[in-house]
Amino acid sequence: MKPPPFHYHAPTTLADALTVLGETGPHGKILAGGQSLIPLLNMRLAAPAHLIDINRLAELDRVDVDDGGVRVGALARHARVEADRSAAEAIPLLRQGLRLVAHPVIRNRGTTVGSLVHADPSAEMPAVLALLGGSLDLVSASGRRTVAAADLYVGPLESCLRADELAVCARFPRPAPGTGTAFVEIARRRGDYAVCGVAALVTLDDDLRVAAARAAYLSMAPVPHVLDLIEAVAGRPPDTADFAAAGRLARGRLDPEDDIHATAEYRAHLAEVLTARALREAAEAAVGALG
Ligand code: FAD
Repeated sequence: MKPPPFHYHAPTTLADALTVLGETGPHGKILAGGQSLIPLLNMRLAAPAHLIDINRLAELDRVDVDDGGVRVGALARHARVEADRSAAEAIPLLRQGLRLVAHPVIRNRGTTVGSLVHADPSAEMPAVLALLGGSLDLVSASGRRTVAAADLYVGPLESCLRADELAVCARFPRPAPGTGTAFVEIARRRGDYAVCGVAALVTLDDDLRVAAARAAYLSMAPVPHVLDLIEAVAGRPPDTADFAAAGRLARGRLDPEDDIHATAEYRAHLAEVLTARALREAAEAAVGALG
């Protein structure tokens, strides 16, 4: 299938891009990696009158790591972020999640910020941003604002960006010292969107006891869903913590739906099993990080 007709804009500065966005308003769409937008156009599920291609904005093609965490620019491809050694050292969950995003060819082109804005409830990176409590920096011709992950997602494929706003970067904060993370999911085929996915984080205190245990879910709710599961494992050393109980707790708090890929019951079962597995792996990583 071919896309409906559109006017193509290829600004070379951020200021020009924001001017075009401001002028086209709800009739314009930003084109980043095109890995989600182009299929939508080709299937005629979207028909913006204007495409604003940001691929010439080299200033947005960056990954910066500092004491606060990792800042991913709007043109940094998934593959670049995944390959960035200092980003992976600062926040291992970035690489743990990115390796599960589609296939290498799609990661070579698709951008991490594009994925965050696209707000697919089955995508990995929104769950990572939500679990870490990260944020997106948005700019428009009229100003700049930062939106926390908890406020970013409105519904399936719907984030809170205004039509004139461009996301310039995502901020992933470093987890607390003594934290380990893991990302596990089940997909029908490797590289497919997950039927259920769990990103998990466990923090150990100075006595090597569990002080924090959280998980974020994909394909389980209309938006990334974060659960605090500490009550099931609080104060336990990782080797005796009852992560299966945390899985049961998560299952009781999630309310997945049937769709063509899986029944709600199967999804709930996966969530329980994968929560326990992800928390256990995260706890092992936390022990490794401290050792
Ligand atoms: P685009 O397709 O260019 O844009 C997507 C949307 O975001 C558009 O509405 C666009 O206007 C908007 N947008 C993009 N960048 C900005 C910005 N900076 N500011 C404001 N708006 C912006 N993803 C997963 O997470 N997991 C998967 O398993 C997975 N499997 C896939 C399998 C296939 C076969 C394909 C084709 C894609 C898959 N994807 C998957 C999606 C992929 O990760 C996309 O790259 C990503 O969702 C969108 O990034 P993009 O740069 O391609 O954005």
